[in-house]
Amino acid sequence: MKTYDLELIGVGKTYETGAPAVSDFNLNVEKGEFIAFLGPSGCGKTTTLRMIAGFESITTGDIFIGGRRINDMPPERRPTSTIFQNYALFPHMSVRRNVGYGLDVKGVPKAERDRKVDRMLATLGLDDIADARPTRLSGGQRQRIALARGLVVEPEILLLDEPLGALDANLRRAIQAELKLLQVNLGITFIFVTHAQSEALTMSDRIVVMNNGRIEQVSTPRDLYTRPRTPFVANFIGRNTILPGTLAAVDGTLGRVTTTFGTFTGAIDSAAMGTGREAAVVVPAEAFTMEPSRGPAAGAGVPGGNALDARIESRSVVGPIVRFDLAVEGGQSVMLEGHRDRYGEDFAAGTPVRVTWDASKATVIPAAAH
Ligand code: ADP
Ligand code: MG
Repeated sequence: MKTYDLELIGVGKTYETGAPAVSDFNLNVEKGEFIAFLGPSGCGKTTTLRMIAGFESITTGDIFIGGRRINDMPPERRPTSTIFQNYALFPHMSVRRNVGYGLDVKGVPKAERDRKVDRMLATLGLDDIADARPTRLSGGQRQRIALARGLVVEPEILLLDEPLGALDANLRRAIQAELKLLQVNLGITFIFVTHAQSEALTMSDRIVVMNNGRIEQVSTPRDLYTRPRTPFVANFIGRNTILPGTLAAVDGTLGRVTTTFGTFTGAIDSAAMGTGREAAVVVPAEAFTMEPSRGPAAGAGVPGGNALDARIESRSVVGPIVRFDLAVEGGQSVMLEGHRDRYGEDFAAGTPVRVTWDASKATVIPAAAH
């Protein structure tokens, strides 16, 4: 049997008060992977991270690190380090002593400790402020101290709980790039908790999307964006239009969905769905193209399937990109975006248009998850 760096099997957590915070969490992580836990506030990200770290007991299931079951191992004996949301630095200790704290706890001899701390301070560009107190430093510097303190103990797995949440947008982007580079160079497994999809999409090898204590989907950033598998993911990630109906037929890799305003096709994972059940075609905003149209012909009458007659409701320009909200008869709305050069002033609010898309860029998903 293959051993993973980290493995969670059927992990669940129910606190003494309340409904289950995490249920049936299953995940295999390879050495050196950058994994993000992404989902709205309260979905169970921190709880899962704290169970991996050992700060929270698990109610059901098993956690393995490097093939070893660690359910009952105390946090300080696990090969993990945690970077907390608020950094949890010691205000009365110098930067150097903050960074060396984990080594002190482990009883590492002084000479070795100093050597490791010095190297980590240099790696993260903290040598100049080694003797300062954290309270006098900026948010970016404090973030870096927390990172140094987590890394200096040479963990197998670094657990980060919304570590960039306190930083402004520019600094956040700079540190994102730095953090990713550091992770690749060190080859350490990162589990990175965030509720910001852009952060997860830029840094991760794979993203675990969570909702209401459960995993919705585990995918690469690209697949999450282009191949959502649940209505929650289709709504949460990117800008998707969801066209609801019934799965009428499956033909190889394509599924055909009948709706009240037309019949549409998209790529389907046919193993997951049978015909006759409620389904939806999900189309990313940039997968649509449109042309001005002459009249309000019914969508169902458009030859060749993936076309809709609609009317432009609103148009907004975001740099080189134009975003449109379109209305289809019957109340369905469509989000379309494209380049400014393609969609000029003649695509104004009120214009009737015909919208088309390539079936391979759309995805057929089941209507209801759980
Ligand atoms: P996230 O990090 O995704 O925002 P959390 O893991 O913090 O989510 O919380 C998941 C759920 O568990 C929430 O409903 C939250 O209220 C609940 N919860 C978290 N910590 C505790 C606790 N110590 N006692 C009881 N309920 C908790
Ligand atoms: Mg949290």
